[in-house]
Amino acid sequence: MTEAKPSTKGLPGGIEPSRLSPDTLAVWAGEGESLVQGATQVPVVYSAAYGYADVDEWLDVATGRVPGHIYTRNTNPTVSAFEEKLRILEGAQAATSFSTGMAAVSGTLFALLSPGDRLVSVKDSYGGTNRIFLEFLPRFGIEAELCETTDHEQIESAVAKGCTLLYLETPTNPTLKVVDIARLAAAGHAAGATVVVDNTFATPINQNPLALGADIALHSATKYLGGHADVLGGAICGAPDLVQKVYHYREITGAALDPMSAYLLIRSMKTLALRIGRQNASALRVAQWLESQPAVTVVNYPGLSSHPQHDIAARQMRGFGGMLSFSLEGGFEAVKRVLPRLKLAHRAANLGAVETIAGPPATTSHVECTPEERAAMGIPEGLIRYSVGIEDPDDLIADLEGALAAA
Ligand SMILES: *Cc1c(COP(=O)(O)O)cnc(C)c1O
Repeated sequence: MTEAKPSTKGLPGGIEPSRLSPDTLAVWAGEGESLVQGATQVPVVYSAAYGYADVDEWLDVATGRVPGHIYTRNTNPTVSAFEEKLRILEGAQAATSFSTGMAAVSGTLFALLSPGDRLVSVKDSYGGTNRIFLEFLPRFGIEAELCETTDHEQIESAVAKGCTLLYLETPTNPTLKVVDIARLAAAGHAAGATVVVDNTFATPINQNPLALGADIALHSATKYLGGHADVLGGAICGAPDLVQKVYHYREITGAALDPMSAYLLIRSMKTLALRIGRQNASALRVAQWLESQPAVTVVNYPGLSSHPQHDIAARQMRGFGGMLSFSLEGGFEAVKRVLPRLKLAHRAANLGAVETIAGPPATTSHVECTPEERAAMGIPEGLIRYSVGIEDPDDLIADLEGALAAA
């Protein structure tokens, strides 16, 4: 876990982070402390443990009185640099990391919830997160009430009935629904709840949940932070007492981020603002083009003025992201005809990479669900989730045009 003391830690020359734009922070933040012997890049520290000749010093570090590293399951210099970069980008006081996004989700839930507690969330959370709510939490005597994702009144009344943890995700996967973080965080706090927001789709470039009132911003670093579909990771950012609780659970249960993965994430995040800027602009163009296509019945993209929560998105996001989905008139049979004809897209389960990626919910976000469960969640069988890469948007539109001819 990394914690700000002082908050300028990790920036060269002690520049105050609030003076720099996210584009600059993505490049520089978090690295200063870990550079060694004149190297301009963060080293990959592959050491299981850290040695101390002086037992008093060892004891000080081991008991947390003095910063330092003891054992890589707890902390590691490369991993700390990644946490620090993300912490500064999210404007948080503390951050910690995990081996995967799902380790961040499960670690946060199991660290903060106890038998008898009540969680309130939305129906459209990430498929794996939804499974934890429905399959694992009840086994530990924790009630989970899942509300209609965009029904803010329903969420508020579920929270008012008693809520230990309010878990939100916005925009959602795969239908890009948007919930009002500031409004629901206020409702959560009125009920004494901890408010967690999965910020994976938006990234800290487009949205900062903590500034909107959330207590924890959570990431699957596997997606946009990694950005190259070659690394798994997860992280949370928030206030030191909360992050410490989750960090303690992770250090004991063991889902630590690997140092090489942390290095790859640091390298990728230097281009995060560049990539997201491009993906925001391209996704809007592709979404607008798709809206004009007769074979397409619905286009889900928060940047479209036709999006039901466009106003909320415009209020709480600086950009609308690189994810969109669209529904084909011909249902799953049309999906099976169109997808293989896309030449500039991997048909794969991940998202947020530099290459465009496309797939149906049945094999991607909601592979854990039965067709009946997907239907109950309002996910049509004709849906294609499309993660816009950094290619030229004109090439992507031409590729989609060719493939849609088969719809
Ligand atoms: C992928 C994803 C996760 C899980 O992350 P992994 O790194 O695959 O474990 C959680 N939330 C969202 C929104 C995701 O897209």
